[in-house]
Amino acid sequence: MPNSSNLNSIINLDSTRATDSHSGVEISVLAVDDQMANLIALKAALKGCDYRLVTVSSGEEALLQVEENEFAAILMDVQMPNLNGFETASRIRQSAKAKHTPIIFLTAIYHDEHYVTKGYEAGAVDYIYKPLNVPMLKAKLEVFAELHRQRKEIEYQSELRKKFESQVHENKMAELKKNTQRQYQDLVEGIRNGIVWCTDVDTLKFTFVSSHAETILGFPISSWFKGKSFAINLIHEDDRHNVQKALDLARTEGIEVDLEHRMVGANGEVLWFQSNVRVAETANGKEFRGLSFDVTKLKNTENSLRDMLQVRDEFLSIASHELKTPLTPLQLQVEGFLRLFNQGRIKDVPEQVLKQMLETSGSQVAILSKLVDQLLDVSRISSGKIKLDLEPTDLVACVRDIAGLFREQLAEQNIPLIISHPKELTGNWDRLRIEQIVMNLVNNAIKYGAGKAVNIEIFKEGEVAVLKVRDNGIGIPKSDQHRIFGRFERAVSANSFSGLGLGLYITHEIVEIHQGKISVQSDLGQGAEFRVELPIAGPKIKSLLN
Ligand code: ADP
Repeated sequence: MPNSSNLNSIINLDSTRATDSHSGVEISVLAVDDQMANLIALKAALKGCDYRLVTVSSGEEALLQVEENEFAAILMDVQMPNLNGFETASRIRQSAKAKHTPIIFLTAIYHDEHYVTKGYEAGAVDYIYKPLNVPMLKAKLEVFAELHRQRKEIEYQSELRKKFESQVHENKMAELKKNTQRQYQDLVEGIRNGIVWCTDVDTLKFTFVSSHAETILGFPISSWFKGKSFAINLIHEDDRHNVQKALDLARTEGIEVDLEHRMVGANGEVLWFQSNVRVAETANGKEFRGLSFDVTKLKNTENSLRDMLQVRDEFLSIASHELKTPLTPLQLQVEGFLRLFNQGRIKDVPEQVLKQMLETSGSQVAILSKLVDQLLDVSRISSGKIKLDLEPTDLVACVRDIAGLFREQLAEQNIPLIISHPKELTGNWDRLRIEQIVMNLVNNAIKYGAGKAVNIEIFKEGEVAVLKVRDNGIGIPKSDQHRIFGRFERAVSANSFSGLGLGLYITHEIVEIHQGKISVQSDLGQGAEFRVELPIAGPKIKSLLN
């Protein structure tokens, strides 16, 4: 018997090869026969067919072949030593890979029905007797080869379809992921007054930061990812301890923390933030995820509201004190009158004393009414209800009239009042309001003038009338000069000087409403000079004022 491996190699070398056009799969037919002569004859008979003929010379080799390769059909010799054709066929039927491969038995001897039946039981699909009818064998193998080819084509097409469908699915998923990422990005970048960020939980090194971080704090985005201590350095040093404590809590307890803290921008500006931080698991471990909202504006509003409330409370306490001061002597005077009247002694009081008592009461009432007027003016200004009654008004006459009101007081305190003025300087103004301006400025010059001379200057500068009131008193520190025109603002202590802090506020508002300007020049201890400029033509758009 020839060596089986040699036999295989000889015949395989010459074997016909066939490749399917689409699937690229080789179509093979396996021939099993222990007689080399038969195999050579078979090879010669099938020469030129478009499938590959693989030949083996034993049942055992056939079993090995079907485990490794796929065949369109198996031509099986029945009579072989060891494993005969039937046994080999039964074993092939048990193989998962080859259980459906058509097996055609070739036999010269076992013609009778009994063996034919046995062959079919062993899984044969056909029975061919030797000597071979070559055209018939070729035709049968062609059918099996074609069936196999078609099955392979269907498998190939179905594989292609599956691949295509999975590619479509993958593309869809990739598109979905891209859209979700874009949406997420839009969402994050849409938060204009907030910073979305992530850092490593241990090093606090930034791993993500939204682009508005740069707009809000001024550091270029690239610098956020550089140093480990960048995050810590951003936090205002007075808040670092608290922020660190909050982050530790979030990390150890796994809870979300909300905190308010300051951060320092690239230009040194201190900004307030409200931050929400939590710990999240990632593929590389844990990270802090945070959203920090810039609440600086809100915080500033809150602070100025608090300041305003404080100013209001101070004002209420000053106002009640100021109102009480003239009320007490007034009350005493009235009680005195009543007592004298009840005792029938009023006629015994000398006329001069009575006059004195009435004058004192009158001046207390005047002080009270001035305070009430100021409060009323403030409420009118706040509600925008100040109306101007514009008429030709001579500034020189106004100053003279007001100076007249102070004459007695100035004489009593020995304060010189020097007025320099043209003959007249008339503008289109509200006379009573202009008098109020002069009254407030002169009153202050006397009150804060340390008993020294007061100078008033009136002159024309182009289309503007200028009024200057200068004293040589306590002066105003530079740091307070910007606020003394504000409501309730004072630059002296209530114990040293009485007042509501409203005179300059009202003066400023009246000047503004006349479309003029007011300014102050002063140094502490060097006196103060207030300068008022009023357009002679009066305020331009009259309709706005009424
Ligand atoms: P009041 O005099 O009632 O306090 P004003 O509004 O008239 O209120 O003035 C506001 C503040 O400006 C005063 O409290 C005072 O500190 C300062 N001030 C005003 N005029 C003078 C002045 N001529 N010299 C020094 N300080 C002045």
